[in-house]
Amino acid sequence: MIQFDLKDKTALVTGGSRGIGLAVVRAFLDAGARVWYASRTRSGAHDELEASFPGRISWLQCDVTSEAEAGAAVERVVADAGRIDILVNNAGITKDNLFFRMSLEDWDAVLRTNLTSAFLFSKPVARQMTRQKSGSIVMVSSVVGLMGNGGQANYAASKAGIIGLVKSIAREIGSRGVRVNAIAPGFIETDMTAELSEAVREKSVQAIPLSRFGSSDDVAGAVLFLASDASTYITGEVIRVDGGMGM
Ligand code: NAP
Repeated sequence: MIQFDLKDKTALVTGGSRGIGLAVVRAFLDAGARVWYASRTRSGAHDELEASFPGRISWLQCDVTSEAEAGAAVERVVADAGRIDILVNNAGITKDNLFFRMSLEDWDAVLRTNLTSAFLFSKPVARQMTRQKSGSIVMVSSVVGLMGNGGQANYAASKAGIIGLVKSIAREIGSRGVRVNAIAPGFIETDMTAELSEAVREKSVQAIPLSRFGSSDDVAGAVLFLASDASTYITGEVIRVDGGMGM
């Protein structure tokens, strides 16, 4: 039977306080999972979600760029639940600038938050999953990681790095029952894209066959698919969720 539901599954989502991560947290809760999310701030939706899904959501205060904090977050989930079935490496930032103007500081900050954090979380989680002989890791890349983008050399490099990381880990641990995949969203309506000018928005929409920006829920559907047993024969894959922009 094809299985989208996540009943009795334990999930850890980085950057689950808002935007795409929050939509993933909601989708996982709706599908029956027990969810932990790791972010620097508690979600504005936390109390509402706790009321709707009592005892199934927990916040881990965590800066994902810290090896100690990432390790402690994973340890906490394993101590409480005894296992981790799903990891979503979603936390991310942008610090856009033209390449010649990009500082090493902004380069490092974006690489550390978007790519190194995925390494820091995936390592202890993959160790746990290989012990369990099952698990699904989903990483949030971007179409920019596939196509490049002027003004986003740091961000594009971090998102292309995610794809290399996904494919390499998928090859290493597939035989031990763990799947590793990426999604590559296009333009999605979140805080990250809220500051785009009207002119940039209009130009971007013209390049999207579905003629609109995506919603966080549009992205969460693909993450749910890859996290669930509906995708048991998919690993090392990158699914674009971009309204056709990158085809
Ligand atoms: P967002 O609304 O700005 O949310 C970013 C999330 O990352 C927040 O939950 C934030 O939590 C968390 N975060 C950032 N830095 C962190 C840190 N150092 N430690 C812990 N958590 C941190 O962004 P979004 O649009 O939902 O983006 C989510 C992911 O999708 C990112 O990886 C982004 O690159 C990717 N993406 C977005 C788009 C888009 O168009 N929006 C397109 C392609 C890919 P706190 O601030 O509470 O720590």
